[in-house]
Amino acid sequence: MSRPIVVMKFGGSSVRDAERLKNAAARVVETQKEGNRVVVVVSAPGDMTDDLIERANGITSEPDGREMDMLLATGEQISIALLCMAIKTHGLDAISLTGPQAGIRADAVHTKARITSIRPTKLLAELNKGRVVVVAGFQGLNPNEDIVTLGRGGSDLTAVALAAALKSDVCEIFTDVLGVYTTDPRIVPEAQKIAQISYDEMLELAGSGAQVMQARSIEVAKKYGVKIHVRSSLEKKKGTLIENDNGNMEAPVVSGIAFDKNEAKLSIVEVPDQPGVAAAIFGALAENSINVDMIIQSSAQDGTNDISFTVSRPDLKRALTILEAVKNKLKAKAVVSDESVAKVSIVGVGMKSHPGVAAKMFATMAEAGINIEMISTSEIKVACVIREADGTKAVKLLHKVFGLGKSKR
Ligand code: ADP
Ligand code: ASP
Ligand code: MG
Repeated sequence: MSRPIVVMKFGGSSVRDAERLKNAAARVVETQKEGNRVVVVVSAPGDMTDDLIERANGITSEPDGREMDMLLATGEQISIALLCMAIKTHGLDAISLTGPQAGIRADAVHTKARITSIRPTKLLAELNKGRVVVVAGFQGLNPNEDIVTLGRGGSDLTAVALAAALKSDVCEIFTDVLGVYTTDPRIVPEAQKIAQISYDEMLELAGSGAQVMQARSIEVAKKYGVKIHVRSSLEKKKGTLIENDNGNMEAPVVSGIAFDKNEAKLSIVEVPDQPGVAAAIFGALAENSINVDMIIQSSAQDGTNDISFTVSRPDLKRALTILEAVKNKLKAKAVVSDESVAKVSIVGVGMKSHPGVAAKMFATMAEAGINIEMISTSEIKVACVIREADGTKAVKLLHKVFGLGKSKR
């Protein structure tokens, strides 16, 4: 019987310098020696992706998408080469592959491409020669044979997609925290590590700003049933298992709280109240691959409406240009943008069977004098847009009110 395949992903902080790279290499070697075939996925070292974006912005405020991807993809390539060198010092053979070399094909949308297929022929051939294969995360090849990147945090997606394609039992995500916590431990030091969390809850947390996993990677994990183990790259402790809902009848009402400073609010003011307005606005944004999160439309007054919504901050500039054109076409009065907002979300499967959770969240904010500007809900989430300056306070209060500091799972 062939040896099992294990996918191990190391994030930016886990490969940021020589010492961390050597540490990652030692963990890879250990896993290989336990009798596994090992595929490693790595991110760019430290904050390199942010630094590369800054460099591009130093040249132009609207960099060309193709060239941006060519630039961003270099970060991960530094890590794969260095990690292979480190693994080889242990006397083990290793080979680095770019996303395209690993057979990762994607669509053409620069800087947030979606994986369309994986043909791991070369990757499997290398594994079967007994080599450790180290793949650059966050990148693939589009139908024009150009390199594309998979959206911020996209190395998680590379790892999960490879685990699905290679039918590996578990995808290990090594990071700078012990696992997934009840909220960002950088904001609330009392946050607790969660032992097990369902795909649905993790998807909502990640989609609401919990940086620890990229949301799209969880969608893929759920679709293909890939079990994810989020754990520390430095401490050899059990982390958090992300898997199917285990049907825990005593699941906490709220499992976690997410905070997102990466949103901006846009309003199109005094739009004529007639059919086709929303389609014109959101159609134009969708055509340009801009995702919209929350949407609020005020009730009509004097035959006009105000429509407000949020987009991610890096998309704001492009969204404004598109909206100016839509505004003129629709004969609306103005377009207004606001970058000082943040989103706070509470997430938990237990909410389905417990009424009053949203009310408790709103009351907590009211008592603290925090104004709620927008609200959205799903079956297992309540999210509020508030002033960014109130964000940390809101997260701390909600964490306490929902008893997460002492939760045990
Ligand atoms: P990596 O470089 O390994 O990909 P990231 O910086 O992308 O790591 O994600 C890890 C960070 O996510 C942690 O340092 C933590 O501050 C932040 N984070 C936000 N929400 C959570 C949460 N609920 N649980 C754990 N970490 C979280
Ligand atoms: N380096 C990329 C980023 O910073 C991808 C990743 O780290 O997952 O977004
Ligand atoms: Mg990450």
